[in-house]
Amino acid sequence: MKKIKKIAITGGTHGNELTGIYLINKFLKNPTLVKRDSFKTFLMHTNVKAIKQGTRYVQRDLNRTFTQKELENKSLKTYEDILAKKINKELGPKGSKNPNIDFIMDLHSTTANMGLSLGVNLKDKLSLQVATYVKEHIPELKIYSWRGELKDASFVSSISPSGFTIEVGSISQGILRADIFFKTEKLIQTILDFFELYNTNSLKKTCSQIDIYCNAKIIDFPKDKNGNIEAMVHPNLQENGYLKLKKGDPLFVSLNGNNIYYEDITEVYPIFVNEAAYYEKGIAMFFTEKKTIKI
Ligand SMILES: [Zn+2]
Repeated sequence: MKKIKKIAITGGTHGNELTGIYLINKFLKNPTLVKRDSFKTFLMHTNVKAIKQGTRYVQRDLNRTFTQKELENKSLKTYEDILAKKINKELGPKGSKNPNIDFIMDLHSTTANMGLSLGVNLKDKLSLQVATYVKEHIPELKIYSWRGELKDASFVSSISPSGFTIEVGSISQGILRADIFFKTEKLIQTILDFFELYNTNSLKKTCSQIDIYCNAKIIDFPKDKNGNIEAMVHPNLQENGYLKLKKGDPLFVSLNGNNIYYEDITEVYPIFVNEAAYYEKGIAMFFTEKKTIKI
């Protein structure tokens, strides 16, 4: 078992998600809070310009710029593309056998009611082990996963060999909420505790399986021929992340009040429901399927 020597806590990847930005501020002022004996903890505000502006990004979404292909593409010149290469040098480089950071947790918040969530890669076994430990200590935690290989992942957390995105909500963009702030802080502390136990071979046997909401699939808003949204998220789903959706359940309601129903026979669990940041892409939510994964 390889010890984890360097952990990075990153925030402000989206400049209008204040929880992570202010937690980093707090930790920078009180480094002992995130200090443990067996590893070093690095703190970083990733998209400083977007944080100053109070916007999600400056030219493009930083958390979509870290695929291996894009990091290697020198012709990409937006502020975020250049920033991604700089962050990759500091925390990566991605795919390296000897990276500067062993594990990244990137702090986000969402306007969707997803409680405390971890976004993991199913091939990242260490992350799944962390998630299992945290779930035992914080039972309300939910874990979702994206498709694909690590090299094709575009997230900040994909630079290091292991890592995940922390999403906490619901919270509006551009504000702090004390309950969300302290819940996220407790989650971070629990993760750091895991690594201290992991490095010192002191972990008690954790449960060997975990429920994961897998393979998020994009669901767009219904739109008219001009691209205007024609229907809203149905009230049953609003503030109700990870709600089981089965054939015949209402999904959207039109501006005229007519329900649009979910018609597939596969049961799904919507996440990022009515996330404000996804309106620019016309995305209403992601569908996931619940799977029990053996660790
Ligand atoms: Zn975010």
